[in-house]
Amino acid sequence: MKKILVANRGEIAIRIIRAAQELGHKAIAIYETPDNDALHVRIADEAIWLGDGPRKDYLDIAKVIKAARKSGADAIHPGYGFLAENPDFAKACEDAGLIFIGPTSEVITNLGNKVIARQIMAEANIPMVPGTQNLLPGDEGTKTALSFAAEYGYPIMLKATAGGGGRGIRRIENDNQMKEEIPQARAEAKAAFNNDSVYLEKVVINPKHVEVQIIADASGNVVHLGTRDCSIQRRNQKLVEIAPSMIQDQSIIDSICETAVKAAKASHYTNAGTVEFLVDKDFKFYFMEINTRIQVEHTVTEMVTGIDIVRTQIKIAFGKQLIFKQEDIQIRGHAIEMRINAEDPKNNFMPEGGKTVTIYRSPGGYGVRLDGFVYQGYTIPEVYDSLLVKLTVHGYSWNETVDRLKRCLTNFAIVGPKTTIPFYLALIDDPDFRRGDFDTSYLETHSHLLDYDEQNTEINKLAKLIAEIHYKEENSYAI
Ligand code: ADP
Ligand code: ADP
Ligand code: MG
Repeated sequence: MKKILVANRGEIAIRIIRAAQELGHKAIAIYETPDNDALHVRIADEAIWLGDGPRKDYLDIAKVIKAARKSGADAIHPGYGFLAENPDFAKACEDAGLIFIGPTSEVITNLGNKVIARQIMAEANIPMVPGTQNLLPGDEGTKTALSFAAEYGYPIMLKATAGGGGRGIRRIENDNQMKEEIPQARAEAKAAFNNDSVYLEKVVINPKHVEVQIIADASGNVVHLGTRDCSIQRRNQKLVEIAPSMIQDQSIIDSICETAVKAAKASHYTNAGTVEFLVDKDFKFYFMEINTRIQVEHTVTEMVTGIDIVRTQIKIAFGKQLIFKQEDIQIRGHAIEMRINAEDPKNNFMPEGGKTVTIYRSPGGYGVRLDGFVYQGYTIPEVYDSLLVKLTVHGYSWNETVDRLKRCLTNFAIVGPKTTIPFYLALIDDPDFRRGDFDTSYLETHSHLLDYDEQNTEINKLAKLIAEIHYKEENSYAI
């Protein structure tokens, strides 16, 4: 039996605690004051309060290491976000003799830097869009940017080298905008990532975001778990994710997956990771980045492969070899995940934190999976991200999966904060979504879906009914 400290909160902390406990290990939670009532604190075997926070103690490497030492932890799982992609944290774990459940700090350092990652991939002949090195400060950098634009033409992506979570990405349309926005992008990147480096990439017009889950052990075995499509995004951040990609030509899928394995090997990757690609209209694909952590949308891959990725992560970190080979992996059916966020889609997906969940009724049944952390009576802290629960469904065919998802959304009642559920109910009947036909421009080109009638959605009717029927039982009768 080992002790694993989970350096995260919310649904992913719970996901990891469950996997640790299933393996017979003890799970240790950490928390800040706004999370006093959080579920991850309740279900862990031990919980350590770090301080009042908010968002400061969770990020305090020295404190988290101290908590791990105090609890006698053998290993730390960083989840996603927070410290997950911070190489200093992985290094601090290594230096403290703690097992970091993820790749080495060296790999995180290289891949967390989009420019270095592109260099590694270029050397391995991995296809990617043309791009620059980090732009030099001042006029020199602007000069490089303008000549890159003259060579490749607009639009061009101005990206933070250390960016993540959809932040630090700007689409530039002309020279004036380029001159104006480089300094702004730098300042923004400095504030968000403590690194003001920016660089350019040619834009792929209306691409599909296709990514590959990879998993590698310390003995050099690398296996991919197939593709996911995460094209439906708002502000470059994912909302709906599916597995596998709906690209019908299997030879393209195979080629993307093989390239992902090559990318993992080129970067000496260990543990679970995701290789992200953009796919253009002609199904040409381009390397975008490797996320060196468990991904929010790992659930869809688990549903179609049957592999528990978090369990596998823990075993690999404790020195075990992969128990499956590439030929053992089969993709069965389809899975769709919808991120149910406390946000108002009509108000530019503005977060709805601070509200109390007065009614919480979740769907269940065949092929349905929920990864969440809210419960009836829970007040959502304002200071963290807006993800409440991930609804993942699995089905044999795409149609069956969409039908199941619609049934689940109809049965899902969250009253208190506004959520993305009514928007998803509009989306689920969209003919393009029904056909599995979407790219990263989906939200722009389908903005009419935001015109749903808030008061009249099934979900609101249901919530009202639950509130009333509960005791009145108006709809039940005897013969
Ligand atoms: P995923 O890439 O796992 O699908 P997101 O892009 O939504 O999911 O990121 C998951 C969480 O991690 C979000 O809360 C996001 O803000 C955060 N995050 C992702 N990358 C970084 C980063 N490089 N630095 C800080 N936070 C990040
Ligand atoms: P993050 O680290 O924030 O996840 P990524 O580099 O993975 O950033 O890009 C996030 C999203 O931004 C992509 O899924 C895509 O929608 C868009 N994007 C990024 N780079 C490009 C590009 N060169 N062309 C078109 N879209 C892009
Ligand atoms: Mg990304």
